[in-house]
Amino acid sequence: MIKKSSRRRFIRLTAGGIIGLTLGNKFLISSVTAAQLPQLKQDSPQASALKYVNKSLIAGQNCKNCLLIRNDGSNNKWQPCAIFPGKSVNINGWCSAYAPQPA
Ligand code: SF4
Repeated sequence: MIKKSSRRRFIRLTAGGIIGLTLGNKFLISSVTAAQLPQLKQDSPQASALKYVNKSLIAGQNCKNCLLIRNDGSNNKWQPCAIFPGKSVNINGWCSAYAPQPA
């Protein structure tokens, strides 16, 4: 049985971690534009680990409508993604971390 204080501490740490990651990611991503980021290569180890492809093979699922894309407001076909920091992904791409944006 988990003590109440342990549960509260866990919830506080988890909430703090989520807020920190969200704000940190937003700050880091917003400081660069997609044009400044190198494009993620499909055959790189990080892309392969999440089965990233530049062109989605699943109808209705692509980076453009993924919750994790960080569109910089430009019309650039390559945009930052929260899953691949320091890289840009093709808006028509896909990876196994795909999460649909809320309707
Ligand atoms: S998490 Fe995957 S599907 Fe979503 S934007 Fe990034 S690369 Fe694309």
